[in-house]
Amino acid sequence: MSLQPTNIQQIGNELAIQWNDNTESYLPLEVLRRACPCAACGGEPDVLGNIIRPTVTYREESFQLNRFDLVGGYALQFRWADGHSTGIYSFDYLRKLTAGPRY
Ligand SMILES: [Zn+2]
Repeated sequence: MSLQPTNIQQIGNELAIQWNDNTESYLPLEVLRRACPCAACGGEPDVLGNIIRPTVTYREESFQLNRFDLVGGYALQFRWADGHSTGIYSFDYLRKLTAGPRY
């Protein structure tokens, strides 16, 4: 059984995800945005596999969510109020964020 969300909703400034293994994730939007895995935010590995994290400037709108879409049944794509929407968050990645440090 692969990991799938059964319910996703935004509650205040957190995203609440219910999973099909009966667990729940509460992810603050700011944590989500700072963990954006797209090339512009997360950096891409160079030829040696090192990841150079670019400097990203955030605004207030950067942590506000306009909407989210399911992508290919394996990920979520978030559309942020500052227009950024290139990050594809796989379900596994979202689960890892749940266990990660909170800001
Ligand atoms: Zn990004």
